[in-house]
Amino acid sequence: MRTTKFDLWGINFATACSNDSQKSIIKIARELTRDPDKESRVSEQLCKWCYYHGRRLLTGQAFTSYKCISCSQDHSHPNTGVPSLCMTCAAAYKLCKQCCAAMNGRERKKIGNEIKLPSTRKKVKKKFSASS
Ligand SMILES: [Zn+2]
Ligand SMILES: [Zn+2]
Repeated sequence: MRTTKFDLWGINFATACSNDSQKSIIKIARELTRDPDKESRVSEQLCKWCYYHGRRLLTGQAFTSYKCISCSQDHSHPNTGVPSLCMTCAAAYKLCKQCCAAMNGRERKKIGNEIKLPSTRKKVKKKFSASS
């Protein structure tokens, strides 16, 4: 935050903000390294970044609908910070539901299609066969 007035209060306010920002970054860095809430983070299907950093971001408190980028089904989320994946897909593919990163933080060779999803997907039959 920027102070608009050049006075002692403004200087002290800016100093407090600067110190708080530094402390907060150091705290996040420590959490990213140590992963102190690993159990609840994994049960919420969130990567370290989304769990420790993302939860500090402001979200609007309103039920918001979103479409899962994997199964394309509509879901609702308790705030405006909607995830990319629904919980079912995130768990099945072992991905962060928020940003879609691998939960183990490792690059993959495959999406993980070998993992079978519960049959929540609606099968759409093609009305017309390809005529080529
Ligand atoms: Zn899904
Ligand atoms: Zn994430």
